Amino acid sequence: MRRFLEISGWSPGYLYVAPHHVTILARCEACGAEREFDRHSVPRSLEYALIPEIEARLRCATCGANAGRLRFGSYLEA
Ligand SMILES: [Zn+2]
Repeated sequence: MRRFLEISGWSPGYLYVAPHHVTILARCEACGAEREFDRHSVPRSLEYALIPEIEARLRCATCGANAGRLRFGSYLEA
C-alpha cells in the first residue's frame, strides 16, 4: 500500500521545470478522482506552459468535469 505525499505549498510554476523524480497526480476537484499525470502526454505547444494553463485543459476521465489540479509529490511506501 502506498500513499501520495504532496509537497505542500510548492509548485514548479512551469511543467518543464518539475524535477523528474517528482510524481505528478492530476486530481479532479469535482469528483475527487486522481490519476497519475504523464508529463509526456502534454502536447508540444504546451511544453513550456505554466501549470495553470495545463490545469485549464485537464478533463476528468471519470466525470467529465474541467476541474483538474496538478499535485506534485512522491509516493511513500507504507
Ligand atoms: Zn471528476
